[in-house]
Amino acid sequence: MAYVITDDCVACGSCISECPQDAISEGDIYSIDPNKCIDCGSCASVCPQEAIHEA
Ligand code: SF4
Repeated sequence: MAYVITDDCVACGSCISECPQDAISEGDIYSIDPNKCIDCGSCASVCPQEAIHEA
């Protein structure tokens, strides 16, 4: 299991510093590396767009 970032992402950057695994990559829409994500939910809790969900 990993969290995923949906099209609702506005690339605000709020989530990146919250990830203990350094699993989140920047881009037009941010993405989460499923091989690094440990399903902690830290990123989802800070997203102002509620764009991060469990896969
Ligand atoms: Fe990182 Fe946790 Fe979000 Fe996975 S759920 S991308 S480990 S902050």
